[in-house]
Amino acid sequence: MSKIRTRYAPSPTGRMHVGNLRTAMYAYLIAKHEGGDFLLRIEDTDQERFVEGAVEIIYRTLEETRLIHDEGPDKDGGVGPYVQSERQASGIYLDYAKKLIEKGEAYYCFCNQERLDTLKKVVDGQEIMTYDKHCLHLSKEEVEEKLASGIAYVIRQNNPTEGKTTFHDEIYGDISVDNSELDDMVLIKSDGYPTYNFANVVDDHLMGITHVVRGNEYLSSSPKYNRLYEAFGWEVPVYVHCPLITNEEHKKLSKRSGHASYEDLIEQGFISEAVVNYVALLGWSPEGNQEIFTLDELIKEFDYHNLSKSPAVFDMTKLKWMNSEY
Ligand code: GLU
Repeated sequence: MSKIRTRYAPSPTGRMHVGNLRTAMYAYLIAKHEGGDFLLRIEDTDQERFVEGAVEIIYRTLEETRLIHDEGPDKDGGVGPYVQSERQASGIYLDYAKKLIEKGEAYYCFCNQERLDTLKKVVDGQEIMTYDKHCLHLSKEEVEEKLASGIAYVIRQNNPTEGKTTFHDEIYGDISVDNSELDDMVLIKSDGYPTYNFANVVDDHLMGITHVVRGNEYLSSSPKYNRLYEAFGWEVPVYVHCPLITNEEHKKLSKRSGHASYEDLIEQGFISEAVVNYVALLGWSPEGNQEIFTLDELIKEFDYHNLSKSPAVFDMTKLKWMNSEY
Protein backbone atom coordinates (compact mmCIF):
# COMPACT_ATOMS: atom_id res chain seq x y z
CA MET A 1 0.00 0.00 0.00
CA SER A 2 1.22 3.51 -0.74
CA LYS A 3 2.25 5.84 2.07
CA ILE A 4 -0.70 7.24 4.01
CA ARG A 5 -1.29 10.93 3.42
CA THR A 6 -3.89 12.86 5.34
CA ARG A 7 -4.69 16.53 5.65
CA TYR A 8 -6.47 18.96 7.87
CA ALA A 9 -8.37 21.35 5.62
CA PRO A 10 -9.98 24.08 7.70
CA SER A 11 -11.96 27.02 6.39
CA PRO A 12 -10.84 30.02 8.44
CA THR A 13 -14.25 30.94 9.77
CA GLY A 14 -13.68 31.34 13.51
CA ARG A 15 -11.98 29.90 16.56
CA MET A 16 -11.02 26.20 16.53
CA HIS A 17 -13.58 24.40 18.64
CA VAL A 18 -12.81 20.97 20.04
CA GLY A 19 -14.50 19.30 17.06
CA ASN A 20 -12.12 21.03 14.67
CA LEU A 21 -9.17 20.17 16.85
CA ARG A 22 -10.27 16.55 17.02
CA THR A 23 -10.54 16.34 13.22
CA ALA A 24 -7.01 17.74 12.88
CA MET A 25 -5.75 15.36 15.53
CA TYR A 26 -7.33 12.24 14.03
CA ALA A 27 -5.97 13.16 10.60
CA TYR A 28 -2.53 13.62 12.18
CA LEU A 29 -2.70 10.39 14.19
CA ILE A 30 -3.92 8.28 11.26
CA ALA A 31 -0.93 9.45 9.21
CA LYS A 32 1.66 9.24 11.97
CA HIS A 33 0.53 5.84 13.21
CA GLU A 34 1.61 4.48 9.82
CA GLY A 35 4.63 6.74 9.35
CA GLY A 36 2.71 8.79 6.78
CA ASP A 37 2.43 12.49 5.96
CA PHE A 38 0.10 15.06 7.45
CA LEU A 39 -0.68 18.19 5.42
CA LEU A 40 -2.37 21.45 6.31
CA ARG A 41 -4.51 23.18 3.71
CA ILE A 42 -6.33 26.43 4.35
CA GLU A 43 -9.62 26.45 2.43
CA ASP A 44 -10.25 30.14 2.09
CA THR A 45 -11.87 30.53 -1.30
CA ASP A 46 -15.19 31.46 0.25
CA GLN A 47 -14.40 35.11 0.91
CA GLU A 48 -17.80 35.84 2.46
CA ARG A 49 -17.24 33.42 5.33
CA PHE A 50 -13.65 34.49 5.96
CA VAL A 51 -13.03 35.72 9.50
CA GLU A 52 -10.09 38.03 10.16
CA GLY A 53 -7.49 36.39 12.41
CA ALA A 54 -8.91 32.87 12.03
CA VAL A 55 -5.91 31.62 10.02
CA GLU A 56 -3.52 32.74 12.77
CA ILE A 57 -5.63 30.92 15.35
CA ILE A 58 -5.39 27.72 13.30
CA TYR A 59 -1.57 27.99 13.02
CA ARG A 60 -1.18 28.78 16.69
CA THR A 61 -3.46 25.98 17.87
CA LEU A 62 -1.77 23.36 15.71
CA GLU A 63 1.64 24.52 16.83
CA GLU A 64 0.74 24.47 20.53
CA THR A 65 -0.82 21.03 20.24
CA ARG A 66 2.18 19.87 18.18
CA LEU A 67 0.13 18.73 15.22
CA ILE A 68 2.84 19.83 12.84
CA HIS A 69 2.34 19.42 9.10
CA ASP A 70 5.00 17.79 6.96
CA GLU A 71 5.08 19.66 3.69
CA GLY A 72 3.88 22.73 1.90
CA PRO A 73 5.18 25.70 -0.05
CA ASP A 74 8.19 27.62 1.29
CA LYS A 75 7.14 30.37 3.64
CA ASP A 76 9.37 32.69 5.67
CA GLY A 77 12.16 30.12 5.49
CA GLY A 78 9.88 27.32 6.76
CA VAL A 79 7.26 24.91 5.47
CA GLY A 80 4.07 26.84 4.99
CA PRO A 81 0.64 25.30 4.69
CA TYR A 82 -1.11 25.08 1.34
CA VAL A 83 -3.46 28.04 0.95
CA GLN A 84 -6.20 27.73 -1.63
CA SER A 85 -6.57 31.45 -2.35
CA GLU A 86 -2.86 31.44 -3.32
CA ARG A 87 -3.20 28.27 -5.37
CA GLN A 88 -6.22 29.67 -7.16
CA ALA A 89 -4.16 32.54 -8.62
CA SER A 90 -2.60 30.13 -11.13
CA GLY A 91 -6.08 29.25 -12.42
CA ILE A 92 -5.80 25.52 -11.60
CA TYR A 93 -9.36 25.10 -10.36
CA LEU A 94 -10.83 26.79 -13.42
CA ASP A 95 -8.65 24.61 -15.66
CA TYR A 96 -9.97 21.48 -13.98
CA ALA A 97 -13.56 22.70 -14.25
CA LYS A 98 -13.02 23.25 -17.97
CA LYS A 99 -11.75 19.68 -18.30
CA LEU A 100 -15.08 18.54 -16.88
CA ILE A 101 -16.97 20.74 -19.34
CA GLU A 102 -15.07 19.05 -22.19
CA LYS A 103 -16.13 15.66 -20.84
CA GLY A 104 -19.79 16.74 -20.54
CA GLU A 105 -19.54 16.43 -16.74
CA ALA A 106 -19.99 20.15 -16.07
CA TYR A 107 -21.56 23.12 -17.84
CA TYR A 108 -21.74 26.91 -17.86
CA CYS A 109 -24.80 28.34 -16.17
CA PHE A 110 -25.89 31.91 -16.87
CA CYS A 111 -29.07 31.99 -14.78
CA ASN A 112 -29.47 35.13 -12.75
CA GLN A 113 -30.54 35.29 -9.11
CA GLU A 114 -34.11 36.16 -10.06
CA ARG A 115 -34.49 32.94 -12.00
CA LEU A 116 -32.76 30.87 -9.33
CA ASP A 117 -35.13 32.32 -6.73
CA THR A 118 -38.09 30.89 -8.64
CA LEU A 119 -36.60 27.40 -8.17
CA LYS A 120 -36.52 27.68 -4.38
CA LYS A 121 -38.72 25.38 -2.31
CA VAL A 122 -39.25 25.01 1.40
CA VAL A 123 -38.53 21.46 2.61
CA ASP A 124 -38.78 20.63 6.32
CA GLY A 125 -38.82 24.32 7.14
CA GLN A 126 -35.63 24.92 5.15
CA GLU A 127 -35.40 26.80 1.88
CA ILE A 128 -33.57 24.75 -0.72
CA MET A 129 -32.85 25.32 -4.39
CA THR A 130 -32.39 22.43 -6.77
CA TYR A 131 -31.13 23.60 -10.12
CA ASP A 132 -33.26 22.43 -13.06
CA LYS A 133 -30.40 21.99 -15.58
CA HIS A 134 -31.81 24.81 -17.70
CA CYS A 135 -28.40 25.89 -19.03
CA LEU A 136 -27.28 22.34 -19.76
CA HIS A 137 -29.55 22.54 -22.79
CA LEU A 138 -27.98 25.64 -24.31
CA SER A 139 -26.31 25.03 -27.66
CA LYS A 140 -22.54 25.46 -28.05
CA GLU A 141 -23.18 28.66 -30.07
CA GLU A 142 -25.48 30.08 -27.39
CA VAL A 143 -22.86 29.40 -24.74
CA GLU A 144 -20.10 31.04 -26.79
CA GLU A 145 -22.27 34.05 -27.50
CA LYS A 146 -23.06 34.54 -23.82
CA LEU A 147 -19.44 34.11 -22.79
CA ALA A 148 -18.37 36.65 -25.42
CA SER A 149 -20.96 39.16 -24.22
CA GLY A 150 -19.35 39.12 -20.75
CA ILE A 151 -22.51 38.01 -18.92
CA ALA A 152 -21.85 36.53 -15.47
CA TYR A 153 -21.71 32.76 -15.21
CA VAL A 154 -20.98 29.92 -12.85
CA ILE A 155 -19.82 26.40 -13.73
CA ARG A 156 -22.01 23.58 -12.44
CA GLN A 157 -21.44 19.89 -12.00
CA ASN A 158 -23.59 17.78 -14.34
CA ASN A 159 -24.92 15.01 -12.13
CA PRO A 160 -26.99 12.10 -13.44
CA THR A 161 -30.65 12.11 -12.41
CA GLU A 162 -31.09 8.34 -12.49
CA GLY A 163 -29.38 5.48 -10.70
CA LYS A 164 -27.52 5.58 -7.41
CA THR A 165 -24.18 6.76 -6.08
CA THR A 166 -22.65 4.48 -3.49
CA PHE A 167 -19.55 4.99 -1.40
CA HIS A 168 -17.92 3.58 1.69
CA ASP A 169 -17.08 5.38 4.89
CA GLU A 170 -14.80 3.70 7.43
CA ILE A 171 -17.07 4.68 10.30
CA TYR A 172 -20.55 4.76 8.81
CA GLY A 173 -20.19 1.86 6.34
CA ASP A 174 -21.69 1.77 2.84
CA ILE A 175 -23.84 4.75 1.95
CA SER A 176 -26.05 4.95 -1.09
CA VAL A 177 -28.12 7.85 -2.39
CA ASP A 178 -30.45 8.25 -5.34
CA ASN A 179 -28.85 10.41 -7.99
CA SER A 180 -32.12 12.32 -8.31
CA GLU A 181 -31.18 13.88 -4.96
CA LEU A 182 -27.85 15.25 -6.23
CA ASP A 183 -28.10 18.90 -7.08
CA ASP A 184 -25.87 20.23 -9.88
CA MET A 185 -23.67 22.08 -7.43
CA VAL A 186 -21.62 25.10 -8.40
CA LEU A 187 -17.93 24.34 -8.97
CA ILE A 188 -16.74 27.79 -10.04
CA LYS A 189 -18.54 30.88 -8.72
CA SER A 190 -19.29 34.06 -10.66
CA ASP A 191 -16.29 35.75 -9.01
CA GLY A 192 -14.06 33.13 -10.65
CA TYR A 193 -13.24 31.46 -7.33
CA PRO A 194 -13.86 27.74 -6.91
CA THR A 195 -16.40 26.67 -4.33
CA TYR A 196 -15.05 24.92 -1.28
CA ASN A 197 -16.58 21.67 -2.56
CA PHE A 198 -14.69 21.73 -5.82
CA ALA A 199 -11.30 23.00 -4.66
CA ASN A 200 -11.40 20.41 -1.87
CA VAL A 201 -11.71 17.46 -4.27
CA VAL A 202 -9.18 18.81 -6.78
CA ASP A 203 -6.63 19.46 -4.06
CA ASP A 204 -7.17 16.15 -2.28
CA HIS A 205 -6.36 14.48 -5.59
CA LEU A 206 -3.41 16.71 -6.52
CA MET A 207 -1.92 16.35 -3.04
CA GLY A 208 -2.21 12.57 -3.11
CA ILE A 209 -4.45 12.39 -0.04
CA THR A 210 -5.19 8.73 0.71
CA HIS A 211 -7.46 9.24 3.76
CA VAL A 212 -9.95 12.08 3.98
CA VAL A 213 -10.75 12.80 7.62
CA ARG A 214 -13.48 15.31 8.40
CA GLY A 215 -16.63 15.95 10.41
CA ASN A 216 -19.72 13.90 9.62
CA GLU A 217 -21.58 17.02 8.49
CA TYR A 218 -19.83 16.37 5.16
CA LEU A 219 -21.30 12.89 4.73
CA SER A 220 -24.27 14.25 2.81
CA SER A 221 -22.00 16.08 0.33
CA SER A 222 -19.74 13.09 -0.23
CA PRO A 223 -21.86 11.54 -3.03
CA LYS A 224 -21.31 14.74 -5.04
CA TYR A 225 -17.58 14.57 -4.35
CA ASN A 226 -17.62 10.94 -5.44
CA ARG A 227 -19.24 11.91 -8.68
CA LEU A 228 -16.41 14.38 -9.24
CA TYR A 229 -13.77 11.70 -8.64
CA GLU A 230 -15.58 9.46 -11.09
CA ALA A 231 -15.99 12.22 -13.66
CA PHE A 232 -12.24 12.87 -13.58
CA GLY A 233 -11.39 9.17 -13.45
CA TRP A 234 -9.55 9.65 -10.13
CA GLU A 235 -9.22 7.16 -7.32
CA VAL A 236 -11.62 7.83 -4.43
CA PRO A 237 -9.78 8.23 -1.10
CA VAL A 238 -10.64 6.35 2.08
CA TYR A 239 -13.28 8.36 3.94
CA VAL A 240 -13.26 8.74 7.72
CA HIS A 241 -16.16 10.95 8.80
CA CYS A 242 -15.84 11.70 12.50
CA PRO A 243 -18.98 11.59 14.63
CA LEU A 244 -20.57 14.70 15.99
CA ILE A 245 -19.50 16.25 19.29
CA THR A 246 -22.33 17.63 21.37
CA ASN A 247 -22.41 19.72 24.51
CA GLU A 248 -23.85 18.31 27.71
CA GLU A 249 -27.37 19.25 26.53
CA HIS A 250 -26.72 17.06 23.46
CA LYS A 251 -26.65 20.06 21.14
CA LYS A 252 -24.06 20.31 18.36
CA LEU A 253 -20.96 22.32 19.25
CA SER A 254 -20.29 25.16 16.90
CA LYS A 255 -17.48 27.66 16.42
CA ARG A 256 -19.79 30.15 18.06
CA SER A 257 -20.07 28.10 21.24
CA GLY A 258 -16.93 29.89 22.34
CA HIS A 259 -16.48 28.05 25.62
CA ALA A 260 -15.56 24.91 23.70
CA SER A 261 -12.81 26.43 21.58
CA TYR A 262 -9.19 25.45 22.21
CA GLU A 263 -8.18 29.00 23.04
CA ASP A 264 -10.98 29.38 25.56
CA LEU A 265 -9.96 26.21 27.32
CA ILE A 266 -6.37 27.44 27.55
CA GLU A 267 -7.62 30.82 28.82
CA GLN A 268 -9.59 28.92 31.48
CA GLY A 269 -6.32 27.39 32.72
CA PHE A 270 -6.35 23.96 31.08
CA ILE A 271 -3.00 22.81 29.82
CA SER A 272 -2.51 21.93 26.19
CA GLU A 273 -1.48 18.28 26.82
CA ALA A 274 -4.64 17.65 28.83
CA VAL A 275 -6.83 19.16 26.11
CA VAL A 276 -5.07 17.05 23.45
CA ASN A 277 -5.52 13.93 25.55
CA TYR A 278 -9.15 14.70 26.24
CA VAL A 279 -10.01 15.55 22.64
CA ALA A 280 -8.34 12.37 21.33
CA LEU A 281 -10.68 10.28 23.48
CA LEU A 282 -13.82 12.05 22.26
CA GLY A 283 -15.19 9.20 20.20
CA TRP A 284 -12.14 6.93 20.19
CA SER A 285 -11.75 4.07 22.66
CA PRO A 286 -8.25 2.70 23.12
CA GLU A 287 -7.87 -1.08 23.52
CA GLY A 288 -6.69 -1.09 27.17
CA ASN A 289 -7.66 0.91 30.27
CA GLN A 290 -5.10 3.67 29.88
CA GLU A 291 -6.70 7.14 29.93
CA ILE A 292 -3.73 9.47 30.09
CA PHE A 293 -1.68 9.57 26.90
CA THR A 294 1.17 11.67 25.60
CA LEU A 295 1.03 12.59 21.93
CA ASP A 296 3.66 9.94 21.15
CA GLU A 297 1.59 7.32 22.93
CA LEU A 298 -1.47 8.41 21.01
CA ILE A 299 0.45 8.00 17.75
CA LYS A 300 1.38 4.48 18.76
CA GLU A 301 -2.06 3.42 19.98
CA PHE A 302 -4.43 5.24 17.66
CA ASP A 303 -6.54 3.08 15.39
CA TYR A 304 -9.39 4.72 13.52
CA HIS A 305 -11.18 1.39 13.29
CA ASN A 306 -12.01 1.88 16.98
CA LEU A 307 -13.86 5.14 16.38
CA SER A 308 -17.45 5.17 17.47
CA LYS A 309 -20.24 6.49 15.27
CA SER A 310 -22.38 7.73 18.12
CA PRO A 311 -22.04 11.39 19.05
CA ALA A 312 -19.39 12.15 21.69
CA VAL A 313 -20.35 14.41 24.58
CA PHE A 314 -18.02 17.21 25.57
CA ASP A 315 -17.91 16.76 29.32
CA MET A 316 -16.07 19.38 31.38
CA THR A 317 -15.81 17.14 34.49
CA LYS A 318 -13.70 14.60 32.63
CA LEU A 319 -11.47 17.31 31.18
CA LYS A 320 -10.96 18.79 34.65
CA TRP A 321 -9.98 15.39 35.98
CA MET A 322 -7.52 14.84 33.14
CA ASN A 323 -6.03 18.26 33.61
CA SER A 324 -5.40 17.50 37.27
CA GLU A 325 -3.43 14.38 36.26
CA TYR A 326 -0.84 16.44 34.37
N1 GLU B 1 -12.95 23.21 4.82
C1 GLU B 1 -13.87 22.38 5.52
C2 GLU B 1 -14.21 22.96 6.88
O1 GLU B 1 -13.46 23.73 7.44
C3 GLU B 1 -13.32 21.01 5.79
C4 GLU B 1 -13.72 20.02 4.83
C5 GLU B 1 -12.86 18.79 4.73
O2 GLU B 1 -12.07 18.51 5.63
O3 GLU B 1 -12.98 18.12 3.72
O4 GLU B 1 -15.22 22.62 7.44
